[in-house]
Amino acid sequence: MTDHRLHADGARVLADLNALRGIGAYKTGVHKPTFSEPHMRSLEWLAERLPDAGLTAAIDGIGNVLGTSTKSGPKLLAGSHLESQNFAGWLDGPLGVVYALEAARVINPDLSVNGAVEVAAWCDEEGHFGSFLGSRSYVGGVTKDDIDAACDRSSGRTMREALRDVGLAGRARAKAERGRHIGYLEAHIEQGEMLETGGLSIGVVTSQNHAGTTRMDVSRDAGLALARFCVAIDDRFPRLCGPRTVWTTGRITLDPGAPSIIPGRAEMLFQMRDDDPGVIDRLEDLLRSMAAEVSAQGRCSVAVERLRTGAPAMMDATFQQAIEAASTAFAGGRSVRMPSGAGHDAQVLATIMPAGMLFVPSIGGISHHWSENTADADIVTGAQVFVEACRRLLME
Ligand SMILES: [Zn+2]
Repeated sequence: MTDHRLHADGARVLADLNALRGIGAYKTGVHKPTFSEPHMRSLEWLAERLPDAGLTAAIDGIGNVLGTSTKSGPKLLAGSHLESQNFAGWLDGPLGVVYALEAARVINPDLSVNGAVEVAAWCDEEGHFGSFLGSRSYVGGVTKDDIDAACDRSSGRTMREALRDVGLAGRARAKAERGRHIGYLEAHIEQGEMLETGGLSIGVVTSQNHAGTTRMDVSRDAGLALARFCVAIDDRFPRLCGPRTVWTTGRITLDPGAPSIIPGRAEMLFQMRDDDPGVIDRLEDLLRSMAAEVSAQGRCSVAVERLRTGAPAMMDATFQQAIEAASTAFAGGRSVRMPSGAGHDAQVLATIMPAGMLFVPSIGGISHHWSENTADADIVTGAQVFVEACRRLLME
């Protein structure tokens, strides 16, 4: 690069990430559930820094932080989230927010770039109160009733109470202004081992996987029956799944859950993900026929209820090309195109504007745990690639 002003400042990026790690620190990670005190302090931390990037900061009525620019020319939206899972890692979310802040700090004051990067921290990506409530609110997908019904899955505190407690009740929710942005770019840790194993620096996300989420309800001697059902899934899914299908068991609830009483009812959340919606349909049919078989045996009954099917979110081709070109310039071309395993806010933004995502390597593929980490050198390389990708997208 001939213009040194358009380089991310790696030391500044690392310092910012460590400052955010210091808010709500837990071992080497953080504990920042949505609307907790350290989460709110993190939002304020960001709001205080956005003016350094020529942005006007606002925290809206659902806890989204948005930095908007008055610079002329195209606007690119970039960001991620600042809350964490309980007792989780320091980079899941903050990495994408700090990269976006850095891109805005480098690009916005530079008059050789026509246009600006605007920054977003979407509230509750980690789903303490719901599913992508912040970004879904921004794209117009959350009603008043949805907010009335939302409550914290750990504490039971309602979202209305939480919004009052943190002083956001009654504030307007920011809505996307159609046509304002050329698109949305988000960086995230991979949360898998593909990049590390391949000796690669950057993942260019092609699509966010289709997901089917179901709830299974078992009645009568339900604990043992549910355990048997899990074993049966592991036995039978491999025969019908695709090469990259992933399935996970979420929360299991026994009712009653006392050790001396055989539970009469059990509930399990279950999710399947694959690139191919046909595979999800096939596996959901299999789940239903397995449930019917168990019920037919008469000892207990199993009901399968579909909660939601995630629509595919394809990442924009121009965005993928920009990330790849930026990787050639700043990461020696050590990039690979890959689907995203987990869901991210980019899939929500992709419903109203072109979107792209880049991944940086996760050490050992660890995620949603306080030991989650990425090498400093990979964090800095990712920042260089991110800023360059933003520059290219604005210049195109
Ligand atoms: Zn995340």
